[in-house]
Amino acid sequence: MISDSNWQVHKFGGSSLADADCFRRVRDRVLAASSDAKQAVVVSAMGGMTDALIALVDQAVTGEADFDAALLALETRYETAAARLLDPAARTDLIEQWQRDRDDIAGLLQAVTVVRAAPERTFDVVAGYGELWSARLLAAVVAQDCSDGRRVGWLDAREVVTVRPTRLGPSVVWPASREKLEQAQALADNDIVIVTGFIASDEAGLQTTLGRNGSDHSAAIFAALLGADAVTIWTDVPGVLTGDPRQIPDARAITSLSYNEAMELAYFGAKVIHPQTMGPAVEHDIPIHIRSTFAPELDGTVVGAFADKDEPVKGITSIDGLAVVNVEGAGMIGVPGTAHRIFQALREADISVILISQASSEHSVCFVVPASVADTAASVVRDAFRSELGTGQLQRVSVTADCSILAVVGDGMSGMPGIAGRFLNTLGQAGINVIAIAQGSSERNISVVVASSDATRALRAAHSGFYLSPKTLSIGLIGPGTVGGELLDQMAAAAERLHERFNLDLRVRAVARSSVMHLSERSVPLDGWRDAIAGETVALDLDAFTAHVDVDHLPHAVLIDCTADDAVADRYADWLARGMHVITPNKRASSGPNARLQAIRSAAGEGHSRFFYETTVGAALPIIGTIRDLVETGDRVRSIQGIFSGTLAYLFNTYDGSEPFSAIVRRAREAGYTEPDPRDDLSGTDVARKLVILAREVGYTIELDDVEVESLVPDALTDVDVDTFLERIDMLDEAMAERLAAARGASRVLRYVGRLSETGQASVALTSVALDDALANIALTDNVIRIESDRYSANPLVVQGPGAGPEVTAAGVFADLLRLVAELGNRR
Ligand code: ADP
Ligand code: ASP
Ligand code: MG
Repeated sequence: MISDSNWQVHKFGGSSLADADCFRRVRDRVLAASSDAKQAVVVSAMGGMTDALIALVDQAVTGEADFDAALLALETRYETAAARLLDPAARTDLIEQWQRDRDDIAGLLQAVTVVRAAPERTFDVVAGYGELWSARLLAAVVAQDCSDGRRVGWLDAREVVTVRPTRLGPSVVWPASREKLEQAQALADNDIVIVTGFIASDEAGLQTTLGRNGSDHSAAIFAALLGADAVTIWTDVPGVLTGDPRQIPDARAITSLSYNEAMELAYFGAKVIHPQTMGPAVEHDIPIHIRSTFAPELDGTVVGAFADKDEPVKGITSIDGLAVVNVEGAGMIGVPGTAHRIFQALREADISVILISQASSEHSVCFVVPASVADTAASVVRDAFRSELGTGQLQRVSVTADCSILAVVGDGMSGMPGIAGRFLNTLGQAGINVIAIAQGSSERNISVVVASSDATRALRAAHSGFYLSPKTLSIGLIGPGTVGGELLDQMAAAAERLHERFNLDLRVRAVARSSVMHLSERSVPLDGWRDAIAGETVALDLDAFTAHVDVDHLPHAVLIDCTADDAVADRYADWLARGMHVITPNKRASSGPNARLQAIRSAAGEGHSRFFYETTVGAALPIIGTIRDLVETGDRVRSIQGIFSGTLAYLFNTYDGSEPFSAIVRRAREAGYTEPDPRDDLSGTDVARKLVILAREVGYTIELDDVEVESLVPDALTDVDVDTFLERIDMLDEAMAERLAAARGASRVLRYVGRLSETGQASVALTSVALDDALANIALTDNVIRIESDRYSANPLVVQGPGAGPEVTAAGVFADLLRLVAELGNRR
């Protein structure tokens, strides 16, 4: 008996049979399978072929068809693939057969054009050719390229699979199918049999189909008939994924599913596997493997009779194109049979209901139906309750159009508290309005109805809520220069450790550099970011950049501004308002106009987002955080004094009179200790900005203009170019030498000091300080800050250390990022 042999069953979908390259891949898979067992290889039509054939009949019905052109297009597709795959001799038969089929189809279409109507069977017959063609073509290719003597043939499944149409779809007539299986010569004679999916016969022997995407069902039917141990469904994705990959870029393959879970996912829209596949598999306890033809090295998903409850939620799916019908009225309360009458009316109108939800007050019942039948559904319910509507016992029957259902599925949800809460919470946080909720009594599925316009966002939010580390950050970095570049390097070095130890998933998904931007779907490779962005030519568009970073499928979005640009700071309020966090060493926002800073702070409140800028003063030294801690714990900061410029610290540490001040400035510039134009340091503006930032932390409303600044740049040199400035900087020497001498005479040293007085006066000036002062004893480019407060009065608080340089600044920005993560914690 045929079914006594040892059979393997594989199925290749249309996505795996799109063109000649795909056929080769499938051939390789078929030939790679062990020759210990016979193989039944069920195939779909070439991807898109069934749609094209159905469209031909539709066109014939409307009478507008130009079949010859459309058929020629199909012929070209088929012949091109055949020509690339087969030797001329091997393809002659195939092409002749194709031409006969084409003539038959043309005849059928002609008849349809005349009557302008096509019975269901015409659709079945025409659509079924797709599977016949791909089965014949694959059989020819495998036969041609099989070199180990295995016999290769093909089977028209209509000879075997016998079905009876029912309201719930075609139902297999097993005895008849079994009997015919044993008569199928192709199965008896060959070791590898390519079988048409999708098509079948009815009990009268007439052609029918198993419905759209029915080839999966065909494969399970053959597995049951042949007594196979397993069936493998080969497709274009590596298994059943946690969500539809076209909507959820982060979806990943599920290792195993129970039949029920797979059924539920398939029913609720996971197109990768057809729900009816489960029937024969469950009945005969045949496991179904779902694997990718494009990545055969992966194990994919196995569906079987498991009770794997380790992962409570297996997948999230959605169905679009729905409408909610809401039946409301106090008259329903406590009246038995209302629901029955509603569903009776729907049943009579042949409308199937996808979801039902009833408020426990029984004041309203809502149900979900395909959008195409929503109005009919509403009107049949109105008819059924005409008298109650007339008397006001029922208030209204209304339709909410454009809805989608989102379902989370998993056997392990049953009896596990908190899943529904988490689901609704993630949706709530993403600002999605839930129209109705239902949970199946199996507790395997929780479904919500949302507006279709929210569906993708809802799917992504729910997916990230269940599957991603809550510490997954979508990061956009602007300005990968000295500090930004160093930051990326530091992140590259730490990423793995942070991921392992803290489950932190840092994804730098966008980098903007001067006028270009580099966007990456998952993450710019951190250890190769320079190469990745090197040849980038996409023009920088901050709106597009923002939209790319702020995606729904990742829990948090962060922008890191490593520029010194005012225009970027202008964006902070927008970013924060939309919930993106901002981290920056750029002083522009926190030292710029108060109005803008206020807007930034209130945007952060509005967006529940955070703005970090610790590195704007003293790089990574804990200065802003220290002041904030004092203020927040109720201390009163009386005064602040400090050296806030590493460059000026260096200049005055080095200036001892043995050489003129100008010589030190020139040398410092050559060594890269100053800005390219040293006036940016000598003017004192940078120090003034930092002082403004600190004064504001203390609580003063101060603007940059309020700071009294002693510039070290002589008036005569403020407007000349840099070279002239450097040439003429000796102008400074004499006065500077005098100030040094005066300081020394009083046993003091010169320091460029920023000061915030007890009355809130801010000033920046070259000052002499006593030798035992904290400000006198600093090394090289150290920053130092001395804070006097009510608590730190007799002995002020001093923070001192290197306060400039790309490494420490980048490390400070990185620390801000980690502070942000710590705050976000498990918040989603
Ligand atoms: P085939 O042609 O092999 O039958 P289908 O196109 O019918 O393939 O099904 C595979 C497609 O199903 C995938 O390419 C994917 O876009 C879609 N899909 C939807 N939801 C899921 C899911 N949860 N897991 C995997 N694929 C899914
Ligand atoms: N070719 C058929 C369809 O597109 C069956 C299948 O691919 O499963 O619906
Ligand atoms: Mg399919």
